[in-house]
Amino acid sequence: MRLTFSSIWWSLSLLILFTELVLCGEDYYAILGVRKDSTSREIKKKYKQLSKKYHPDKNPGDKEAEEKFVQLAQAYEVLSDDEKRATYDRYGEEGLKGNAQEFHNPFDIFERFFGGGRRSRTDPEETKGPNINMDLEVELKELYLGTEINVDISKQTICSHCGGNGAKSANDIVVCSSCNGRGVKLVTQKMGGGGILQMQTTCEVCEGRGKIIKTKCPLCKGKKVQRQNEQLTVTVERGMPDGEEIVFDKEADEAPETVPGDVIFTLKMVPNPVFTRKGDDLYTEKTITLLESLIGFESDITHLDGRKVPVRRDAVTPCDFVEKLKGEGMPKYKGNNKKGDLYIRFSVDFPKAVSAPVKEELKKYFKPSKNTKGSEHVEL
Ligand SMILES: [Zn+2]
Ligand SMILES: [Zn+2]
Repeated sequence: MRLTFSSIWWSLSLLILFTELVLCGEDYYAILGVRKDSTSREIKKKYKQLSKKYHPDKNPGDKEAEEKFVQLAQAYEVLSDDEKRATYDRYGEEGLKGNAQEFHNPFDIFERFFGGGRRSRTDPEETKGPNINMDLEVELKELYLGTEINVDISKQTICSHCGGNGAKSANDIVVCSSCNGRGVKLVTQKMGGGGILQMQTTCEVCEGRGKIIKTKCPLCKGKKVQRQNEQLTVTVERGMPDGEEIVFDKEADEAPETVPGDVIFTLKMVPNPVFTRKGDDLYTEKTITLLESLIGFESDITHLDGRKVPVRRDAVTPCDFVEKLKGEGMPKYKGNNKKGDLYIRFSVDFPKAVSAPVKEELKKYFKPSKNTKGSEHVEL
């Protein structure tokens, strides 16, 4: 909301009255207009509301508003600190003085709420920064057992030196003298018929901010943000599906006046050479000899966790026969330790050649077919 001259004038007149009332008491609760038993949330809310109203940017050249703004910051600084508030409640302002009470720059306190000191139309909560989306490759074994993966991300953070205001120190943020902190200027133009046209333009010195920075922050060079590496630990839970999204709330790039977006990891399952996953089930192949296919076998399969899972058959195992091992598949995600199944498809390794004596021997057991040259299905 841009303030017009008249609204400034009115708020100014009202303000002088109000400020005089407040100055008599010096009571921090009265300054913030809260009850003595107010919660810290109520105090915060009230400070937020009033400090915005009495900010020198909105009340240029108004000494009383400036004083009120300072008082609000001091009152908030004491009442928002549980320890200081308790001391103040018991011993009043005198009690705080004994503790070498030093107040911070009121602009610093204000900017902790509104970031960068820029006048904004929307509440900071309303603007959310972009999300960071990343694919995260995982082995099937990791999805089977569950794991934690540390991921380094490069992200933008609020500058640690200036806290996001871009100035070397809080004293380096000053009200723009060109527009007296209003952020706008009135330009007067003479009209042809002797009339005067007044136009409001954005102040070119402070670019509408109402404030200028005398000395830029040495760490971020006035950019308010810096780039840093941060490590996030992604917890891959047992049985998570391929494509599962793991969200880190508000961990994306930080910027003044914005709520950071989320960092979202999407699991990408790397194909496993032994096992294929379909949902909660696993599929694998096993090659047996011709003899094994005929007389049966006792063998095993090394599972994803290194266990030897026994596989034994007494019956004849034809090519492409599929054996189902119940409960030897993937753990079901959030499935109370339940597991899918494991399917084993057998292929039979036939001998390259059969010698004449063996052929003769085999004929004793396999009756040659009447119609074809191959053997028929027989019970031995
Ligand atoms: Zn300006
Ligand atoms: Zn900085």
